[in-house]
Amino acid sequence: MIIQKTREEIELMRESALLVSKTLGMIAKEIKPGVTTLHLDKLAEEFIRDHDAVPGFLGLYGCPSSILTSVNDQVVHGLPTNRPIEEGDVVSVDCGALKNEFYGDHAYTFEIGDIAPETKKLLQVTKESLYVGIREFKIGNRVEDVGNAIQKYTEAHGYGVVRELVGHGLGKKMHEDPEMPNYGKRGRGKLFIEGMVVAIEPMINLGSRNIKQLKDGWTIVTADRKPSAHFEHDVALIDGKPELLSTFAYIYDALGIKSDEENEFRRQPLVIS
Ligand code: MG
Ligand code: MG
Repeated sequence: MIIQKTREEIELMRESALLVSKTLGMIAKEIKPGVTTLHLDKLAEEFIRDHDAVPGFLGLYGCPSSILTSVNDQVVHGLPTNRPIEEGDVVSVDCGALKNEFYGDHAYTFEIGDIAPETKKLLQVTKESLYVGIREFKIGNRVEDVGNAIQKYTEAHGYGVVRELVGHGLGKKMHEDPEMPNYGKRGRGKLFIEGMVVAIEPMINLGSRNIKQLKDGWTIVTADRKPSAHFEHDVALIDGKPELLSTFAYIYDALGIKSDEENEFRRQPLVIS
């Protein structure tokens, strides 16, 4: 059952989403060659706790970390390790936080220095597909309209769309109804309703869509060991239209990137602090 949120609840969820956005902005400043993902995990946990919240992943389904860090051929759910990050890596960082009883859930794939051009293109197209999907999250549409848009956009580039892992409703639970696959058929699935909040999160592989799980019981890798990308936003359905609750603005601020990609999904300009 889809849980509708009141405007007040959505404002609380915006706080949770902004906190995970700020956490990834902090990570953007720290992530560089030589730094380990375990160190980033420690920083993220401290940052979240310093902001009157608790890490959303830590302990959830037995998760041992506050962020999940998926490097290169790792798709999602990569456990932080002692391996130093290297020039040329791509690192997807997924971050959850629980604040005021509501979860935020947000992910970005970072480029470490110069990366292979084909991987750079994968990241660009995956992020674009996130917005292509969000555009379909509106009254009158159904769940698979979002997935269909993401699938079409990314498969047109020859990429593989991961099937086994999907986006989801978000609220007082990290994973609520409905599941939000990144593939599907137009006009299928549950109708979207006013006040629902979802995490939309394309997981797109440079090669085939097939994945495997490592022996750690968490880390998902591509079966062909080619790179993968993951971007995730929290989005509310307000006045029939998608409104972004999370933002990459803190990351872009840290990295010196100018972008207006989020503007069409906001009623008011975002002031970052
Ligand atoms: Mg998620
Ligand atoms: Mg996530």
